Amino acid sequence: MAKFRCKRCNYSFSMESRTTPKVCPNCGNTNCIGREKSASELLDETEE
Ligand SMILES: [Zn+2]
Repeated sequence: MAKFRCKRCNYSFSMESRTTPKVCPNCGNTNCIGREKSASELLDETEE
């Protein structure tokens, strides 16, 4: 399960998807979805 957040309406949601959804399920805007990093991914980043 991956978490995503819309940059336009700040709506956060999670879905079973390996790719970032293009359309926000809340506001319907496109190309505004960003993937929320999980705790383990954040750890990986700080280690680099
Ligand atoms: Zn939205």
